[in-house]
Amino acid sequence: TRRMYVVGNWKMHGVAEDIPQIQAIAEGAKSYPGVDVALCVPSILIERAARAVPGFPIGAQDVHFAEKGAHTGCVSSAMLRDAGAKLTIVGHSERREGQHESDEEVRSKAKAALADDLSVILCVGESLAIREAGTAVMTVQAQLDASLPEGAVGSVATRLAVAYEPIWAIGTGKVASLADLGEMHAALRERLLVAYGDAGREVRILYGGSVNASNAAEIFAVEDVDGALVGGASLTADKFLPIVEAAA
Ligand code: 13P
Repeated sequence: TRRMYVVGNWKMHGVAEDIPQIQAIAEGAKSYPGVDVALCVPSILIERAARAVPGFPIGAQDVHFAEKGAHTGCVSSAMLRDAGAKLTIVGHSERREGQHESDEEVRSKAKAALADDLSVILCVGESLAIREAGTAVMTVQAQLDASLPEGAVGSVATRLAVAYEPIWAIGTGKVASLADLGEMHAALRERLLVAYGDAGREVRILYGGSVNASNAAEIFAVEDVDGALVGGASLTADKFLPIVEAAA
């Protein structure tokens, strides 16, 4: 059985003065030992955050696929681990769109991070146009197929999570209907089983997009929703911890 997983994505937010919020979140999360909780912060904050909350998983929001080399401005999985990161997000729609990341690139990033002992949250999700065209399930399944690291994931299935984040639900206050959510998560589970066999059952599928304290419980009650990737509501302990509680 899969443990619930609630992860904050701080996006481009967070400087030294926000470390107390990270400490409050890590401290508060101890009250919910049945839930896995983590925070993905800007890479430059990782080391300070990780030192401030020993034992609590701090993660990155992106990673380069190469081990090292001439990649100006990029950060490798070894560097993230060196700074104290335990996980990284890959393929967030803000990077797929803003940094033009392809499925193939996302797959390479996921592979590199898993090979380097990081946990990975691989994001997929459709645009509003695709949702309105009625092809969301097909599109997101294809996106997952093309972004998933192929092959022997068996032993690392518990370190891989998929996050379904409909782009139109991110930061908008709009959430997918519970029926649409259930349909999408089941469709993604099906692809994980095709890709990994039984190990596909171990991979957690998170939902992301305007999750908050008021809607978290009903979202978590949907079959195959194993937690959430939370943006805005993860920035402070008072908003984030009730979401963790809803997962407990
Ligand atoms: P919001 O929770 O702010 O909608 O962001 C969701 C998200 O993109 C998390 O990665």
